[in-house]
Amino acid sequence: MNVPFVDLKQQYLSIKDEVLAAVAGVFKSTQFVLGKEVAAFEDEFASYSGARYGVAVNSGTSALHLALLAADIGPGAEVITVPFTFVATTAAIGYTGAKPVFVDVDPETYCMDPARIEQAITPRTKAILPVHLYGQAADMDAICSIARRHGLHVIEDAAQAHAAEYRGRRCGSIGEMGCFSFYPGKNLGAYGEGGMVTTNDPEVARHIRILRDWGAEKKYHHVLKGFNYRMEGVQGAILRVKLRYLEKWTEARRANAELYSLALADSGLQLPKQAPGNRHVYHVYGVMTPQRRELMEALEAQGIQTGIHYPIPVHLQPAYSDLNYQAGDFPVAERLASEELSLPMFPELAESQIEAVGKAIAEYSSVYQS
Ligand SMILES: *Cc1c(COP(=O)(O)O)cnc(C)c1O
Repeated sequence: MNVPFVDLKQQYLSIKDEVLAAVAGVFKSTQFVLGKEVAAFEDEFASYSGARYGVAVNSGTSALHLALLAADIGPGAEVITVPFTFVATTAAIGYTGAKPVFVDVDPETYCMDPARIEQAITPRTKAILPVHLYGQAADMDAICSIARRHGLHVIEDAAQAHAAEYRGRRCGSIGEMGCFSFYPGKNLGAYGEGGMVTTNDPEVARHIRILRDWGAEKKYHHVLKGFNYRMEGVQGAILRVKLRYLEKWTEARRANAELYSLALADSGLQLPKQAPGNRHVYHVYGVMTPQRRELMEALEAQGIQTGIHYPIPVHLQPAYSDLNYQAGDFPVAERLASEELSLPMFPELAESQIEAVGKAIAEYSSVYQS
């Protein structure tokens, strides 16, 4: 059976009429950039995420960049983050002129290991930037208590964690700021690029609002050196339509993960674990195996597409060699990068497709283990 890694088309077809009507509304209003649809989406998404304010921008990367600037991060500062993430987390720190400082991740949750943070703090440390990887929250109570003790900002990279929860709170509302991406493949995806910063602090929201639109509070009055990081009107309108389905789609991902965990219970693979108190939203359903390449090829041969998130940890990427890290510096991140295999995961994935994946893996395991 053919099982795609993701299928954005099926979802589009299920909401096509609403999406096209929303797009037509924006065209009719000619509010192509920002405008009332974007403003309404900001309020609706912030409220859904448990935060008071939302500022929509043109990507998750821009959200991270502006959140860091709003925390007054710049040259000479250090920001503690993880090397096992998408490169954008590190890149955004670099855009501000600050230095990314990595700490290793937890071998069970794959998120920042709080036990590693304190030894990475220096007099230049200004913020901690945890990533809620694959849709599971990092251990925010531990991270925020270290940050409080040392007077550091906490900015959440929630690009993979729309609707994820930590001890009853939504990701993006726990630290001072949350950064979301609406890249099409994310759990809430635009039909183009998009992002948002969420916060409970009105002053921070105001600051980011000014920065995203050329540092102007009033047209042509530039109080800050700003950017063109504005969200497009059509993306706001489409995201408003899609937000109404996010809860249903999130539950579908969680149900799919449940089916996978049953189908793969005897596979010998390390399966995702939901930490106590967490609501994992399975942006990625990643299994760990030392025989990743072999398993990937066996599944490919059966028409089952898989992915790798991510094959090289950021500290070993050539682009970041100037940070002077080496192989062996973050052993957990390095092992995960060599063992992780992402199985097909999207809300519309059929039970029969999950069974087919389970069966293919069981066949592979029996051959490999005998
Ligand atoms: C996708 C992603 C980003 C960047 O978001 P874009 O919208 O692609 O700029 C940042 N961090 C993480 C963890 C991501 O997965």
